[in-house]
Amino acid sequence: MKPEHRVELYRRLAAVNPNPRSDLEYSNHFELLIAVVLSAQATDVSVNKATARLYPVANTPQAILALGEARLRDYIKTIGLYQTKAKNVIKLCERLIAQHGGEVPNDRAALEALPGVGSKTASVVLNVAFGVPTIAVDTHIFRVANRTGLAPEKTADKVAAKLEKVTPKDYLLNAHHWLILHGRYVCKARSPECWRCQIVELCRYKPKSLAADAEPEPLKGKPVAKASRTAAKSARKAVKKAVRKAAKPATKPRSPRADTPVAIKRGRKPSA
Ligand code: SF4
Repeated sequence: MKPEHRVELYRRLAAVNPNPRSDLEYSNHFELLIAVVLSAQATDVSVNKATARLYPVANTPQAILALGEARLRDYIKTIGLYQTKAKNVIKLCERLIAQHGGEVPNDRAALEALPGVGSKTASVVLNVAFGVPTIAVDTHIFRVANRTGLAPEKTADKVAAKLEKVTPKDYLLNAHHWLILHGRYVCKARSPECWRCQIVELCRYKPKSLAADAEPEPLKGKPVAKASRTAAKSARKAVKKAVRKAAKPATKPRSPRADTPVAIKRGRKPSA
């Protein structure tokens, strides 16, 4: 994807959602960290349901240790891998108290040293809690980056590295949320909603679903060739138009001012 198209893509995502937020619910750094740990291979909805019950009872490392592993398990048992996660959260709380005074560290190495925290979790916490411009690639971002042509790569790590390299600096802080939300709500895995996608003209994905009632893309076999060709053609035109428009200086006012030569010729009085 050309650099000017990347800028346009982010500009459009930003216009729709200027201040994107995580779907996870939390009210401090510790709650965020635990929610992100619990969200590995689970939906944000399932995590929010569990933490809505857990956090009013225990939302500090000390309170979770006081709760104990068995009761913690009970609060999070609707989340996938809850047994392993409960063990990790208890160890994580012990480590936070012993090494960080109960606070969430603002440091990648320290975060990744915590039980249950990998590089993706650390990136999300650094980005959301501390405003570090990192991009953690999950299944949604991986799909959007590859379909659109923004950062086509074969592994999540490579996509993350490429996105961090090619994303314009001004958009880097929020890129993670824009891409994840776009993947979750518009560029869905089975049936991308291209007909209402704000970056459709920029996207390189060929088998677009351009009507609300369009069939989901075939999992195998040929895409719908005619629709794809039409979409690609109008996409190219629209991109050129958008880029030309962005590069154009401010347009002149439509009606001539009273003191312009045109107005004077028409017999209006020049302004004072
Ligand atoms: S046009 Fe379709 S495939 Fe491309 S980003 Fe939008 S929803 Fe996804």
